[in-house]
Amino acid sequence: MKKVVKFGGSSLASAEQFKKVGSIIKADESRVYVVPSAPGKRFPEDTKVTDMLLHLNETAAKGEDLSEEIAAIKARYDEIITGLELKDFSLDEDFAIIKKTLEAEADVDYAASRGEYLNGKIMAAYLGIQFIDSADVIFFNAEGNLNDYKTDKILSEMLSKYEKAVIPGFYGMGKNGKVKTFSRGGSDVTGSIVARACKADVYENWTDVSGFLVADPRIVDNPKVIKYITYRELRELSYMGASVLHEDAIFPVRRAGIPINIRNTNIPEDEGTWIVESTCQKQDYVVTGIAGKKDFCTIFITKAMMNAEIGFGRKVLQAFEENDISFEHMPSGIDTMTIVVHADEFIHKEQSVVSAIHRLAEPDSVEIESGLALVAVVGRGMKSASGTASKLFTALAAKGINIRMIDQGSSELNIIIGVKNSDFETAIKAIYDTFVVSK
Ligand code: ASP
Repeated sequence: MKKVVKFGGSSLASAEQFKKVGSIIKADESRVYVVPSAPGKRFPEDTKVTDMLLHLNETAAKGEDLSEEIAAIKARYDEIITGLELKDFSLDEDFAIIKKTLEAEADVDYAASRGEYLNGKIMAAYLGIQFIDSADVIFFNAEGNLNDYKTDKILSEMLSKYEKAVIPGFYGMGKNGKVKTFSRGGSDVTGSIVARACKADVYENWTDVSGFLVADPRIVDNPKVIKYITYRELRELSYMGASVLHEDAIFPVRRAGIPINIRNTNIPEDEGTWIVESTCQKQDYVVTGIAGKKDFCTIFITKAMMNAEIGFGRKVLQAFEENDISFEHMPSGIDTMTIVVHADEFIHKEQSVVSAIHRLAEPDSVEIESGLALVAVVGRGMKSASGTASKLFTALAAKGINIRMIDQGSSELNIIIGVKNSDFETAIKAIYDTFVVSK
């Protein structure tokens, strides 16, 4: 059994948190490769080290003195080093190099990556295991995307040399020979890449929540934790705004068939959420998760005999393509068609889209409306359970919510409904109550 464990910023924000992480790793011999983030917030108003480094880089770009900011960042690490009582360990030399490098030339990726690099060094010293610099084992191509093939080859060779190691998250080596980072939250991606390279049995992703929640806790009080979720369900929910993991973290492990286990560093006894390819585990509820987003616009198009006009849909979609807008949904009737788009992508281009639709598709009418919210009800269990839609619509009707759009995904994995922005929260609560509280 081999596990890769990734710890998020809040799990490593202070010496106290580091100690929790240390006990978690030591409690299970199979936790062999460790991927740390940079120190995150210790309290709500605190600043993440990554943000301090990004600011430092801006100061460097202006050619101003870096001493004060470097000292503040160093203090964050020194607090951890002292708290862990790491004797004969110091990051003085590393900080001198960072200062010199940024004084010579500001470099946003290099600056941001140092948060993980330095935390990785502390982690390796604390655990007494090998440190592997991610710049030596993770590679990007000329387009700035991960070079999968090269990374997997070199990283797996490197890992085979060490039974245990720390590999800092978030960065690797760019094609130009300079350090390059993933987008924010990218340590999740590193963990996934490491899990695949060492053919891990599990990728444990330790954070500050006990897993993926059935609904947004800002809307529903104390929502239940999802025990098992498939990659496809997760994709549907993340697309609708639910997030615990960086989106790109799914692909490497998914392809390798490695499950992800989301765990809570502060409550390690909680089992968390398992993200898996497929499962026979009995579900507690028909619905796995509920998520949604506000602020969509609809473009409602009519044309007599639309159903018989071959190519009509393509012409309409071309109007969106020409304006560089991606559409989200497209429910259609016999002589009508609705396109749902994100308001922020659409509003400033609305007239140009409408005129393009007229020019290309010659419709009878085009009406646009804003203020639509979409709610996705996702669950692999819906396929075999009858009455799910009826239950859902009854719950919404009971709250007086008018449904403006319905779209059942062809896989029967999700039902998406459109409601007024102002009904959004009430709709989510009503669905949660029906399927989870009084199932
Ligand atoms: N430290 C980086 C960030 O704050 C990456 C990460 O934590 O995953 O985005």
